Amino acid sequence: MAIETISLSGKKKEVSNKKMNFWESLYLIAIFKGLMITIKHLFKRKVTIKYPEQTRSLSPVYRGQHTLMRDDEGRERCTACGLCALSCPAEAITMKAAERKPEEKHLYREEKYAEIYEINMLRCIFCGLCEEACPKQAIYLTKSRTMVKAQTDREDFIYGKDKLVMPLDMAIKNTQNQAAN
Ligand code: SF4
Ligand code: SF4
Repeated sequence: MAIETISLSGKKKEVSNKKMNFWESLYLIAIFKGLMITIKHLFKRKVTIKYPEQTRSLSPVYRGQHTLMRDDEGRERCTACGLCALSCPAEAITMKAAERKPEEKHLYREEKYAEIYEINMLRCIFCGLCEEACPKQAIYLTKSRTMVKAQTDREDFIYGKDKLVMPLDMAIKNTQNQAAN
């Protein structure tokens, strides 16, 4: 006897409760059909990759992890104006400003700098508005530092300056590349 089921998706499917014959009760045909589906997928183009050995090519407009930039003399560009934090729709950015001392001129480009600068990566939606709001070209969502790593502790997703500021050797390399071009 066929039982008609109500389908929310609109795809009506009929099920049957008729008694199975001997061959049907062995499930051989059903197993074979299942195996055929598996074998068919073996020859299809794979949608998964062996990360981290393999990586996908990124879009030219990909927004990766934030980098607080240095200028061509290796000084931090950020002046702790707070515009990035104000423009952030996720309220992910916090900072504390400090005044530069005369002996710190080689470290910070402006008279005011971010003593503390933190981004909560659990809040960030990688919209890039902080980058657009910055008047000092001090923050970029870079492709070179792509992924925010998986963690087990929520505290580890609060990225401070130790993780955000561009490494000095990277800044020197950028300056050398610019000079060569
Ligand atoms: S990318 Fe967007 S959400 Fe993330 S910190 Fe910047 S402004 Fe906030
Ligand atoms: S990153 Fe740019 S916008 Fe944000 S505080 Fe620093 S200078 Fe201002």
